[in-house]
Amino acid sequence: MNLASRQSIDKEALLPSQKGFTLSVVVPVYNEEEVLPDFHRRLSTVMNNLGANWELLYINDGSTDRTLQVIRGLCDPRVATIDLSRNFGKEIAMTAGLDHARGDAVVVIDADLQDPPELIPDLVSKWQDGFDVVYAKRSVREGESCLKKSTAKLFYRVIQRLTRISIPEDTGDFRLLSRKAVQALGLLREQHRFMKGLFAWIGYPQAAVYFRRSPRFAGKTKWNYWRLWNFALEGITSFSIVPLKIASYIGLLTATGAFIYACFVIFKKLTYGDPVQGYASLMVVMLFLGGVQLMTLGMIGEYLGRMFNETKRRPLYLVNHFDPSCLWKTGGRGQDVVN
Ligand code: UDP
Ligand code: MG
Repeated sequence: MNLASRQSIDKEALLPSQKGFTLSVVVPVYNEEEVLPDFHRRLSTVMNNLGANWELLYINDGSTDRTLQVIRGLCDPRVATIDLSRNFGKEIAMTAGLDHARGDAVVVIDADLQDPPELIPDLVSKWQDGFDVVYAKRSVREGESCLKKSTAKLFYRVIQRLTRISIPEDTGDFRLLSRKAVQALGLLREQHRFMKGLFAWIGYPQAAVYFRRSPRFAGKTKWNYWRLWNFALEGITSFSIVPLKIASYIGLLTATGAFIYACFVIFKKLTYGDPVQGYASLMVVMLFLGGVQLMTLGMIGEYLGRMFNETKRRPLYLVNHFDPSCLWKTGGRGQDVVN
């Protein structure tokens, strides 16, 4: 064997992911019957051009429309269907997908075509550069109101202040994870899954790929402001105990204020002796203290409730039916399928 061919073999050995890798695509779906056929067509085209073995995992998150029938109707051996027993929410549906994915790398993508499947080759090439988490970062948010954009910005700012891990701004769940990153995520079995935080928490080399996020292709978003508020609460309480500290500081501050005011009241009573006065101030102080107490109790309650949920140690999800892809059947390599 001459030196040149030996060097080329060594190079291949150094970059195992560049040849013959398998890719899994995880797609949580909830009432997406209108978009799915288009999504599947676009994604399949991209994947076929990638020159790798691939599988596609649709996680039916308790859809109430014909989503499941649409998925089954695709009749593609590369498609795996995980039918969850009910609607568990996108985060858990995604986790179910990651648990069942067999590829060397896993891409998580929304079904509504807001995340362009055409970006996947870029994500893959960054992964091949050695990054374990390659997230798609929006350069433009289209089809979103000013209010949504500004509240999102505020949220990122607050969470950045409150936690030590850095959560990249303007990123959704659309990303590629190496097998190592998927395994690391698999270790995090908490019930309250703030995925953006979990993706950041695992660490490993991470990189961004920029893209334009377009408006939903069809169907309706499942988000409203109440859900977004709860999402923000989830993010903060899952990754920071600063609100609890704030509660104790507010307590300390009001106690100091109350003490100073008490000194003033006693002083006034002793020097002027006015017996029945101060109804207004009494009411103000009472209501203020009552408010502060209830607020801090509420903060503690948020954490307590989450602890309650975590201590039950229930499984994250239940699968009603699992229909594996060919990648599963061939032990993760999928040689029997020709793209
Ligand atoms: N989704 C899900 N379970 C849910 C809600 C949403 O699996 O309970 C899926 C949905 O089908 C889509 C993705 O999560 O593929 C993103 O949902 P959506 O477009 O409503 O969220 P947005 O893009 O507004 O953040
Ligand atoms: Mg969407």
